[in-house]
Amino acid sequence: MPLTGIQIYKLLPRTNCKECGFPTCLAFAMKLSAKQVELAACPYVTEASKTELSESAAPPIRLISLKAAGGEVKVGNEVVMFRHEKTFYNKPGLFLRVRDDDPDLHSKVTAAQAFKVAYVGMDLTLDGFAVQATGDGAKFTAAIKAVREISKRPLILISQDTAVAGAGLQALSGETVLLHGANASNWEGMASLAKSHSAALTVVAPTLDNLAELTEKIKSKGVEDMVLQPEASSLGGSLALGTQIRRLALKKNFRALGYPTIVLAGDGDNARENIAAAQAIAKYAGFVVLDHFSPAAVYPLLVLRQNIYTDPQKPIQVQPGIYEINSPKPESPVLVTTNFSITYFSVANEVEGSGLPAWLVVTDAEGMSVLTAWAAGKFDAERIAKAIKGFNVAEKVSRKRMVIPGHVAVLSGELEGELPDWEIRVGPREAVDLPAFMKQAL
Ligand code: SF4
Repeated sequence: MPLTGIQIYKLLPRTNCKECGFPTCLAFAMKLSAKQVELAACPYVTEASKTELSESAAPPIRLISLKAAGGEVKVGNEVVMFRHEKTFYNKPGLFLRVRDDDPDLHSKVTAAQAFKVAYVGMDLTLDGFAVQATGDGAKFTAAIKAVREISKRPLILISQDTAVAGAGLQALSGETVLLHGANASNWEGMASLAKSHSAALTVVAPTLDNLAELTEKIKSKGVEDMVLQPEASSLGGSLALGTQIRRLALKKNFRALGYPTIVLAGDGDNARENIAAAQAIAKYAGFVVLDHFSPAAVYPLLVLRQNIYTDPQKPIQVQPGIYEINSPKPESPVLVTTNFSITYFSVANEVEGSGLPAWLVVTDAEGMSVLTAWAAGKFDAERIAKAIKGFNVAEKVSRKRMVIPGHVAVLSGELEGELPDWEIRVGPREAVDLPAFMKQAL
C-alpha cells in the first residue's frame, strides 16, 4: 500500500528548510504522496528513510526508454489523469510497422524516415519503426537489417515465436529495443530473451487480470521494463482498458499494471487507423504503432501529440525582438505581435508566404497570445512602445508606420500617445488576412 502524506512526513527531516521548493516538509510530503514531485528534490532524506519511501516515491507508471544510434524514445513516468492537473511528460512514441514480407518495405521506411513537420520552431518526426515477423528468423533478420540501412531510430520487434524473436534481437547490438510480445503461452521464453538482450517487453493479454498476472510472473524472472497491450476489439474497448490501466496505476498505485501501454492502431479496421491512433495519443498510450504511412495522416497526429504534451502552464515562447521577413527595406512596414510561439509562427508564416517584406516586432507578453495577453495586461501600449524603443526599430525604418493586431484596435489611441511620431494602423484580426491587408492598405 502507498504511504499517506502524514506517514511520509514522519520519514522526512522535518526541518522546513524549503530547499525542495515547498515551504514545509509537510507540504512536500503531501505532494510526494500525490506523485507530483520526486523524492530526489529533498537532499536531506536519510538512506533508511529513502528505502522505506522508495515504494511511495517510485513513479506509478514505469519509465521505459528505447535507445538506438538515431535517437531515444522515453515513455511513461506520468503522474496525472488529466493534462491540466499538472502536465503530461513523455510523448507517446509514434512508430510505423513494416512486415518482413512487405515488398514495399524499402520505400515505406525511406518515406517515413524523411518525413518531418516544421511546427512552431520544432521539427516533428516519427520516432521509429516496428518490424513484424511473418516467417522464419532469417527473413526477420533480413528485414531488420534492411530497416537499419535506412534508419537508425529505435525499433520494436514483433514476433510471438521465441526462436524468430531471438534471431531478430541477435541482429542488433548496443541498442534497447521493445520486444513484442509475451503472452500466456510464450512468456517464459520471451522474458528470458528480454533479460539477456536488455530489451523492454510487451505483455499481451485479453483482460486486466491476465495482464497483471503475467507482469508479476515476468517480473519474478528479472524483467522490469514492460509495456502493456490489453487486447480490445473496438475503439471503445481500447479506450476503456487504457483508462482503467491509467487509473489503477495512478489512483490505486497498482504496481502490476504500472507500465505504459501500446496500441497497434492498424490492427483490425484499417479505415479507423487514424482515429485509433488519435484516441491512443489522447488517452493514454505510451507507444502508438501505425501500419500505413501518409503525410496527410501523420501530420495531424504529430501536431496533436505535440499539443497534448506541451505543459499547459508554460507556453512555448519565442525570443522577443525584431525579426526580418523577406529582407525588409527601410520603407517596409512594422508589424507588431506577441511572443506566444503559435502566434509568432502564424504571423511570420503568413507574411513570409506572401513574399511581402516586413519588420516583425515581437513583444515580451510572457508567452501569451494577443487577446490573452491584452486581457492580462501583458500587451498594452506601454509594452509595445517599450519594445519599439528597446529594439531601436526607428533606426531601421524611413517611414514610422506600425500595424497592430485587429484584436487590440482599442490600443491605437494610447499608442499614438506613447509614440507620437509613429503612424498607427490597425491590421486584421487573423494572421491569415495579413497578406491581403498588406497589399491593399500599406
Ligand atoms: Fe523538508 Fe527536505 Fe523540503 Fe527541506 S528539502 S523542507 S527537509 S522536505
